[in-house]
Amino acid sequence: MDLGLKNRVALVTASSQGIGFATAEAFAAEGCRLAMCGRNERTLATAAEKISKRWPAEILAEVCDVTDSAAVSRFVATTVTKFGTVDICVTNAGGPPAKEFLAVSMEDWHRAIDANFLSTVYFAREVIPHMQRNRWGRIITITSITTKQPVADLVLSNAVRAAVVGLVKSLANEFGKDGILVNNVGPGFTATDRLKELAKARSAASGKSEDEMFAAWAADAPLKRLGDPREVAETIVWLASERASYVTGQTILVDGGLYKGL
Ligand code: NAD
Repeated sequence: MDLGLKNRVALVTASSQGIGFATAEAFAAEGCRLAMCGRNERTLATAAEKISKRWPAEILAEVCDVTDSAAVSRFVATTVTKFGTVDICVTNAGGPPAKEFLAVSMEDWHRAIDANFLSTVYFAREVIPHMQRNRWGRIITITSITTKQPVADLVLSNAVRAAVVGLVKSLANEFGKDGILVNNVGPGFTATDRLKELAKARSAASGKSEDEMFAAWAADAPLKRLGDPREVAETIVWLASERASYVTGQTILVDGGLYKGL
C-alpha cells in the first residue's frame, strides 16, 4: 500500500529511544525527511546514525528539551531552514513517574504538565502556521492508555494526558478547514525503557519481582503479550498517511486490547 509519505517532512520529538525512536525510523522507512530531537547530544547522534545506516533518509538531529519553549521554537526553525517546512509533527516525551496522589509533589505536577502537556502546545504553535500555508498537515500526540482508562499509581499520567486529549480535539476542530489532521495515539504496555522504570517502581512497592510485573501486564491484555514500539510507530505512520485522510480528533489506543471499555 502506498502511504503517500515520500519526501514529507516528519518531525518526531524525544526520538532517541523507545516509541519516539521507532516512530522516527518508521517515517524514514517511508521515505520521509526526518527531524529528530532529544536532550542528550550523544544518544541522539547514535540514534540518528542507526536510522541512516538502515534507510537513505535525510536526517536533522537537534538537541532540544521539549519543555523549553524557546528551544522548541529554535528546533522547528532549524527544521524549516533545512527542509522548507514541517508536514508531520509527532509530539512525544518521557512519561511522568509512577506515584500515588499523596506522594506526588507540586514539582512533579509542574514537570508532568510541562513535559506531557505544554510541550505539545509549544510544538503546535510553531508548526501550525507552516501546515496552514501548505493546506496539509498532521499533528499526532503520543500519550497513553490512561487517556481512556486510569492506571493505578499513574495519577500524573491519568490527569495530565486528559488535557492533551482536550487539546487534540480542539486543534482538530479549529484547523480541519486548513487540511490539518490532529490525532492522539495511546500506547498500552510497550517494551521500552519506560516500562522497565515502571516495573522497578512497582516491584519496589509490592515486593514482587520485575519479571512478575511484566508477566502480569502481558496477561492483562487479550493479546497476552507486551507491545513492541514498532507496533505503535506503524499506527502513527498510518495516521500521518494519505490512507487516514478522513480521521481527525481521535484517540487511538495501541494496547493489545488492554482497555476494558466498549
Ligand atoms: P522511554 O522512556 O523509553 O523514552 C522516552 C524518551 O523521551 C527518552 O529518550 C527521553 O530521554 C526522552 N525525553 C524525556 N523527556 C524529554 C524532554 N523533556 N525533552 C526531550 N526528550 C525527552 O519512553 P517510551 O516508552 O518510548 O514512552 C514514550 C511515551 O509513551 C511516554 O510519554 C510514555 O509515558 C508513553 N507511554 C509508554 C508506555 C510504555 O509501556 N512504554 C505506555 C503508555 C504510555
